[in-house]
Amino acid sequence: MAKEFVRLCGEVGNFSERITGVSIVDAYFGPEDLDPKRQNENKDAEVLIHDLDEFIDTLGEIDEPIRRKYLQAEAESMKMTVKWLAGLETNYSNIVRTMFNIEPKKFSKGIIDAQLSEVEAALEPFPGVDLAEKASLFTKEGEVRGKALRDFIDNELQSKSSDVGQLFKERIYSLIGRDVTDNGVKYNCVTDKPWSGYNYFQGNYTSVNEFNVDRPMNTDSALAVVYHEYEHHVSNLWRERAYHEEGFVELSIVPLHTGRCVISEGTADTARDFLGVKDSSDKVKAYDALYKLRRMISINSAIMLNLEKKSIDETVQYNVERGLRSEGAARSGLAFISPETRDGKVNIWSPYVFTYYIGRTDFVYPIFSKAKEQGELDKFYQTLYLNPFSGSSATWKESFSWL
Ligand SMILES: [Zn+2]
Repeated sequence: MAKEFVRLCGEVGNFSERITGVSIVDAYFGPEDLDPKRQNENKDAEVLIHDLDEFIDTLGEIDEPIRRKYLQAEAESMKMTVKWLAGLETNYSNIVRTMFNIEPKKFSKGIIDAQLSEVEAALEPFPGVDLAEKASLFTKEGEVRGKALRDFIDNELQSKSSDVGQLFKERIYSLIGRDVTDNGVKYNCVTDKPWSGYNYFQGNYTSVNEFNVDRPMNTDSALAVVYHEYEHHVSNLWRERAYHEEGFVELSIVPLHTGRCVISEGTADTARDFLGVKDSSDKVKAYDALYKLRRMISINSAIMLNLEKKSIDETVQYNVERGLRSEGAARSGLAFISPETRDGKVNIWSPYVFTYYIGRTDFVYPIFSKAKEQGELDKFYQTLYLNPFSGSSATWKESFSWL
């Protein structure tokens, strides 16, 4: 049954690659015969949906409730991906709700206003005549591009990444009471991508982190991104360990657009809290306030483009006015959330933006804070990393019901 899950993920990955150019299989480190590359490439949507339903029917065999719920939710999410890409489901709210087990909704004007006031207070010590100019100067300061950006990634970010790996060992694995093999993260520069950074887990306990050098990057925010990307690497290390040492073959494949992603992005966005490295300097406060505002604005923009069918220009304008972005940054940011790619294909990423903010705010951070208050961080990390089935929006709350 676990093998069937891996095969089906591979087939849905091949299906999504055929339609969008991107496979929903984010990483694979399992047995050779189950490799997505060896699975059927031509199954159509109806057959895939039927096979996923059959798989769901066999899940009653699993006694362990968290594992059963995890697999059921992952399969339901994959069914929705197939329906969406085949044009059988077109309602963006339904798509997001079923993929991620979350309710997609816009942040109200009042909530955005309140966050803008927080940004204004945080930017108070920085130069500029008004809020827009302050945000623009703050973002531009320390921005690098071209060769300087490539050098920064090859040197500073690469070495920062080793430091972060060391911190995970010292501050988190020590609490878990167990170590995990870590063969490190290699940094690469890439171009022509809809995202700014991406962690590709390669198996054999190693990752490649790609950074998009098409756009200029603020060195402070890039350093913060290292924590996010490194946590993805860490969570995959433990996942690979659970596959090798406990024999859960279904963990050897990492699909996108499922409940897993909500927790994965939520823990990545909480990595600095896990490691206790958030300092309270004016710069970090301002950076965090702006980051939160922009995560909210991205969610609203995704709903404007995909559900309300607003134009790109109107959404860019909204990002400039409410997200305090330059027009160029707003336009390139929309590549990730627009319904279509520049070459007219379905944009595989368009539902994904909800995972970050909702994953942190509604799932990971509240449970982490509660565990911290109750002096239970060791058990929190043990649950999170030793039992990868806890890492889904479908199983998260139940996995921590002991708190
Ligand atoms: Zn991420």
